[in-house]
Amino acid sequence: MTDLKQRCCGGGSIGKMAAHWAEILSLGTAARNLVALPSAMALSPGLISSYSHETLLTCYRLRLISARVQAAAILVGLVTIAWIPIDNALFHGELDIVMRLAIGRLIAAALFWMIGNMELRGDNSQQGVGMIGLMVGVGIGFWLFAHATTIGAHEIYIRSPGHEQYVLMPVALAAGISIFPLTIVEAVLLVAPSLLGLTLESFHGDGAIIWWHVDVALFLMCPIMAIAVTCAVSQLNLLINLFEQSMTDPLTKALSRRAGAELLGVLFAQSERSNAPLSVVLFDLDRFKLVNDSYGHWAGDAVLQKLIQCLQARMRDQDAIIRWGGEEFVIVFPGTDAAEATDVMTQLCLSGLGTRPNGTQQTVSVGLAERTTDAARNWQVLVDIADQRMYEAKKLGRKRLVGPNAEARLVASALLAA
Ligand code: GH3
Ligand code: MG
Ligand code: MG
Repeated sequence: MTDLKQRCCGGGSIGKMAAHWAEILSLGTAARNLVALPSAMALSPGLISSYSHETLLTCYRLRLISARVQAAAILVGLVTIAWIPIDNALFHGELDIVMRLAIGRLIAAALFWMIGNMELRGDNSQQGVGMIGLMVGVGIGFWLFAHATTIGAHEIYIRSPGHEQYVLMPVALAAGISIFPLTIVEAVLLVAPSLLGLTLESFHGDGAIIWWHVDVALFLMCPIMAIAVTCAVSQLNLLINLFEQSMTDPLTKALSRRAGAELLGVLFAQSERSNAPLSVVLFDLDRFKLVNDSYGHWAGDAVLQKLIQCLQARMRDQDAIIRWGGEEFVIVFPGTDAAEATDVMTQLCLSGLGTRPNGTQQTVSVGLAERTTDAARNWQVLVDIADQRMYEAKKLGRKRLVGPNAEARLVASALLAA
């Protein structure tokens, strides 16, 4: 036993070698972990830029950013004014500087107040990022002004306790980015002006470099920027995950009715603003109850899942499918007129929607409506019209598409009935 102990862990060259290899191995593990880090972070394109974000996610993010910018801008505005007595204490010998700083603070606070009361109505995420940019811009603007104002009083400024506030302000601005759900591109663009400002500020008025300001810029600002960007992106990641969980139907992964209603509202308003067409289809599975009655509810579920998978695999990126209830679904075709939507839907159906447990094709009855052709005043009316036409399609013998004009109805009916 003692012999074994000595061989495994005891002193001597074997023990040293074992310890050496253990160290090498643990370093190897650390290196492997480091290499695996980017893939462990699983950076999806949606975390890098907002280009691939769905309309509804954009609206949610915009709402969240807008509420936070408003609260932060008002808070920062109040702090900016509350700092006037501190300036007075710091620069007590220089009334001219204190007055100029106070005026600068009042102007900055008024601008923050205006940002805090801005209403964002829209579906463009750049508006939200622009609002944060405005806040950062006002902050950096005031900071540059304060720097120019205090540069003459450099000696007092440097000697005063608390003068770091003017050097460290961009650091606070960059750290503030972390409260917003942002993509990597957005977060980097928003923190970059603070780093740039701090680097430029290191050059004193007489052309000399204040090295400890450079130190602040590089050794304090860079890790803070990295942490702020990471926090902002992880907030976005959380938002996307929660959005996907709460907005989709767990069985079919189509949008839930609540999310669908919001999306329809946004797309309808967009289509009215740009005077672009907006088509909507409402479809219902044909004789679906028979599947449940003959093969059970699980078999019915599988048919529903397969049908939505077939559609989603072939649908265009801009179109969205919504589970309207039971075995009724809505598909929205933004920027698509009735004739084009009829063609797209017909092709989707003809490409196959999966089979029933007895091997026959599962078919659907479709009603189609378009905003301008049907002169719908809101999205609810548009869906109602599509619903009525779906019932017409059922009455005509199922497996049909009924649209706003006779021509579309006839062609689609013939194709779908094949
Ligand atoms: P029709 O062609 O007239 O539409 O006939 P149908 O049998 O499809 O119509 P009906 O409305 O009578 O039946 C719809 C059935 O869909 C009844 C309901 O049990 C079933 N259903 C609704 N939601 C689900 C679901 O999530 N899973 C399963 N398995 N069945 C569902
Ligand atoms: Mg049905
Ligand atoms: Mg039904």
